[in-house]
Amino acid sequence: VLDGDDWVITGRKQWNSNATGWDGRGADLISVVCRTSGPGVADGISVIMVERAQLEAGGFTVERAHDTLGHRAHLSPVLTFDGLRVPRQNLIGEAGNGRTYVEAGFGATAALVGAFSVGVMRKAFEIALDFARAEKRGGPVAIIDHQAVGYLLVDVKTKMEAARYLVWKACHALDAQAPGALELAVHAKIFGSEACVPAIYDLMRVVGIESYSHDMRLAALLQDAVCYPLFDGGNIGVRRRQLHTLLKDTEYDQLLAAEGHL
Ligand SMILES: Cc1cc2nc3c(=O)[nH]c(=O)nc-3n(C[C@H](O)[C@H](O)[C@H](O)COP(=O)(O)OP(=O)(O)OC[C@H]3O[C@@H](n4cnc5c(N)ncnc54)[C@H](O)[C@@H]3O)c2cc1C
Repeated sequence: VLDGDDWVITGRKQWNSNATGWDGRGADLISVVCRTSGPGVADGISVIMVERAQLEAGGFTVERAHDTLGHRAHLSPVLTFDGLRVPRQNLIGEAGNGRTYVEAGFGATAALVGAFSVGVMRKAFEIALDFARAEKRGGPVAIIDHQAVGYLLVDVKTKMEAARYLVWKACHALDAQAPGALELAVHAKIFGSEACVPAIYDLMRVVGIESYSHDMRLAALLQDAVCYPLFDGGNIGVRRRQLHTLLKDTEYDQLLAAEGHL
């Protein structure tokens, strides 16, 4: 709510990436997406930047960081704002336009989640391939010589290459500001993140029981990979908000993303 020359922010928010700051008392800068209202302010969603000095003035608490399966270095705490005051000029752009800014930000991050997904698959593939070439497990030949193992590795590699080229194309489209860039970025996130979880599990099947110990990196890679379909909007959510909405638009051109018309 706008009160004189200050925004007064009240609410509770979970899953705030890196918002603990280094000392657990809040980051130097937090972008708060919230509903705004007040005299002369149209009701809507806005983005307000909150600085550490304002957090320290009171009305802000870091309750706790979530105890997560993977991404353990990526703290995502629960924050409480209770009448926190922030100067009016900390509003980004126009009040009520926040959704546009947030959606633009999420386009680029979707392509990056696709890249994270390729990264974890690449490392897991390297580990499993090395193991399959080196290990005979009591048999006469390296396990990669068994077709069951070789074909599993081939199938993972096919999915990894497909995810990689989709990420490259999406990132190129974002750099070039091509009109189909957002669609490509979301495809890269959905395809990459939903490929990497079963791919790493298949690579664990190649390695067998040794993959189940943290002595080998595969288990940790799977723990991180499970995050990718769930965060950054969640794949059910981005399907609904971005791709389903796009497809329903009667002006939608299905070749725009593929051909990258500028
Ligand atoms: C490490 C990490 C960091 C994060 N950082 C941030 C951050 O910095 N800022 C931030 O805001 N969030 C952050 N998040 C939160 C996260 O991005 C979103 O809250 C989350 O993706 C919301 O997705 P959801 O669909 O599960 O939400 P929910 O709304 O909880 O939905 C739960 C489930 O309900 C179903 N559902 C809900 N609505 C519908 C519908 N309309 N139609 C069909 N099904 C539906 C779906 O099955 C969905 O999976 C972070 C999360 C993690 C794990």
